[in-house]
Amino acid sequence: MTTAVTTDRIYNFSAGPGCLPEPVLKQAQEDLWNIDGSGVGILEHSHRGKAYSQVLHEAIEDCRTIASIPDDYEVLFVQGGATTQCFQVPMYFLAPDRTADYFLTGKWASDSIHEGKRYGNVHVCGTSEGDGFNHIPTGSEVSYSDKPVYVHYTSNNTIMGTGFQTEPDCPEGAFLVCDASSDIFSRPIDVTKYGFIYAGGQKNLGPAGTVLVIVRKDLLERNVRDMPWMLDYALAAKKESRFNTPPTFGVYLMGQVFKWILEQGDLESMKAYNERKAGLIYSVLDSSSFYKSHATKDSRSMMNLTFKTTSEDLDKKFIAEAGAIGMDALKGHRSVGGMRATMYNAFPEAGCEALAQFMKEFEAKNG
Ligand SMILES: *Cc1c(COP(=O)(O)O)cnc(C)c1O
Repeated sequence: MTTAVTTDRIYNFSAGPGCLPEPVLKQAQEDLWNIDGSGVGILEHSHRGKAYSQVLHEAIEDCRTIASIPDDYEVLFVQGGATTQCFQVPMYFLAPDRTADYFLTGKWASDSIHEGKRYGNVHVCGTSEGDGFNHIPTGSEVSYSDKPVYVHYTSNNTIMGTGFQTEPDCPEGAFLVCDASSDIFSRPIDVTKYGFIYAGGQKNLGPAGTVLVIVRKDLLERNVRDMPWMLDYALAAKKESRFNTPPTFGVYLMGQVFKWILEQGDLESMKAYNERKAGLIYSVLDSSSFYKSHATKDSRSMMNLTFKTTSEDLDKKFIAEAGAIGMDALKGHRSVGGMRATMYNAFPEAGCEALAQFMKEFEAKNG
């Protein structure tokens, strides 16, 4: 095999920002110049004008359609990346004398816990830290505090390559909060099980910086502090996510990605596609004693696949040789090592086939 790719774009296995759907990038090129025949590009339109209003309203509607979001939930676009949600959520909902429960399943969960502790008590209701975060805690590994305000979890652990296969239980009286940054809309999601969902853009939705928030409307009234304007979800809802000048391009691009998802079918078809893609790699891992997967079988992510060869030197060789034939960004996060192959919604199946093929050839030569 000389090269894995046939166009000027290579296979980008980056975990974030990740690759975007190619038709969306092409459309964005046009709309940057002149959107909807308005004679003005999307970046240059007023956030209160007709063109942007249409972009915003379509994005919200399409998002509602994708996830069957009921009317008693608000769809918001906020700023500061998912990392801002790590503190904004507890600042809004967690009083100093109350407790929130957090699953500690990796680096992003750990960041959320760190930020949560600024505002109230944090109880770790389940963790796999002792096992290098190689699985999702379940059953006897999970224990909730007495009356948590909410239960926070990270549905997909971008760095570890693990994912919740289904949402965790949530004790009576608490609401479920999910950092869904790296697997949102990769499979069906039952929004009614949640109080609050957030997802940074740059994994499955669009550009970095813009964050999608789906929040149950009654919770908007449950802020325990007087919030600064820019951090006030209720104000964002009232002002249609444009209290100040919003990241209009981020909202536009998320809107285009929503349209692309709808063109693929629904979240069931998205899931089938992602299972097929990840399955190509997992089947190589499962039939090999040369490669070792970081995640245990029952906790595997469909988005970020983490694995190693038999030595660090071979890992380096793997990454270099794959890079030389057009497969980029396979180096694992420094905390896990080895390789990480990220295949978000927009990552093409042909890239997964190419990687699977390369893995087999690499094992045959080096195993
Ligand atoms: C990437 C990521 C974040 C951080 O997002 P930023 O936009 O960089 O703040 C948070 N949580 C998860 C699960 C992520 O994958």
